[in-house]
Amino acid sequence: MTNSILVTGGAGYIGSHTVVQLLEQDHHVTILDNFSNSSPQVLERIQRITGKQVALIKADIRDRESVRDAFKSRQFDAVIHFAGLKAVGEGEAFPLKYYDNNVTGSQVLLEEMLQAGVNRIVFSSSATVYGAPGQTQYHENLELAPINVYGRTKRIVEDMLRDTNKAQPQLRIALLRYFNPVGAHPSGLIGEDPNGIPNNLMPFIAQVAVGKREKLSIFGNDYPTPDGTGMRDFIHVQDLASGHLAALNYLAENDSPLIVNLGTGRPYSVLEMVNAFGKACGKDISYQFSPRRAGDLAEYYADPALATSLLGWTAKHGIEEMCMDTWRWQSDNPDGY
Ligand code: NAD
Ligand code: UDP
Repeated sequence: MTNSILVTGGAGYIGSHTVVQLLEQDHHVTILDNFSNSSPQVLERIQRITGKQVALIKADIRDRESVRDAFKSRQFDAVIHFAGLKAVGEGEAFPLKYYDNNVTGSQVLLEEMLQAGVNRIVFSSSATVYGAPGQTQYHENLELAPINVYGRTKRIVEDMLRDTNKAQPQLRIALLRYFNPVGAHPSGLIGEDPNGIPNNLMPFIAQVAVGKREKLSIFGNDYPTPDGTGMRDFIHVQDLASGHLAALNYLAENDSPLIVNLGTGRPYSVLEMVNAFGKACGKDISYQFSPRRAGDLAEYYADPALATSLLGWTAKHGIEEMCMDTWRWQSDNPDGY
């Protein structure tokens, strides 16, 4: 069935890939984004991939008037809420900026959507909500104890949505806890385009490969992992995107809250990623070992079984596609959009 979906943060990395899949499934999509961490160029790329139009509302989710007008502009069936700030270090330095953008912004959005009679929301949460639970595989029933500001903003929004769902059961919620998104659309037309020096591993490797950075610093080679480097559950952004479509289908048919991990369940080490990327791009990635990064855990990965049983969803793309698709995006767009 064709639905009308409001996608906040739809111009961003994960949002843009999800918008493409929504359009491919014949949904009508409106992106609401303030472009604080994205480029309007994305819209043209999305239209090139899909041959379909996307509606755009340039607005900030904290701006109540604009959000209200957005909900008046069309009767939406659901909201997918990606808009948010995500840099862990920046959150520590500017906590109020993070609480304002992520928490206040989500509250304004939720109030206005309910006011407009829109009762389904899919929220971008993060594996960061688990904190440092003392085990490496994360199941959804672990206690949530985030260890940084960014993670706490995600937990607060999860709580806000759960509490509202309890009080107003007509509100249907999906909380999707992403592991480490990587990769790009196979067309090479959209991908991750970080501002300045990338914080995350994959975009940093890609920028070394394309000659924009001299070498990667690998943060720690003395972790209790097989090769001593950190291990993460990297998930292809195309798989993550399809998880959102599965969540929308779930909400159309179920009124119980959906709270699931989106990961592959198979972690790779930093060195494994470096080597796989080297194969994909046909050149060695220069690196040096550096001290551990503050706040990093040795290893964690998803237990993805709940998402599989509730949604019939599993991640399909492997490490080769993650690297090949990132490389295609990076080499076709060395300076991003
Ligand atoms: P992104 O920065 O590429 O996309 C976020 C988008 O939201 C951007 O287009 C930005 O301009 C927009 N935005 C930010 N604040 C806004 C505001 N106040 N009003 C309107 N638009 C605003 O990030 P992404 O990687 O696509 O992440 C999307 C969501 O997923 C975020 O909520 C992030 O916290 C969450 N998440 C990301 C990761 C990751 O590693 N990328 C992991 C877990 C969770
Ligand atoms: N990492 C690294 N060098 C970098 C960036 C990241 O060695 O320049 C490592 C980091 O220590 C962690 C893994 O790569 O073990 C994934 O880090 P990222 O920041 O991409 O994601 P996180 O898991 O921290 O959210």
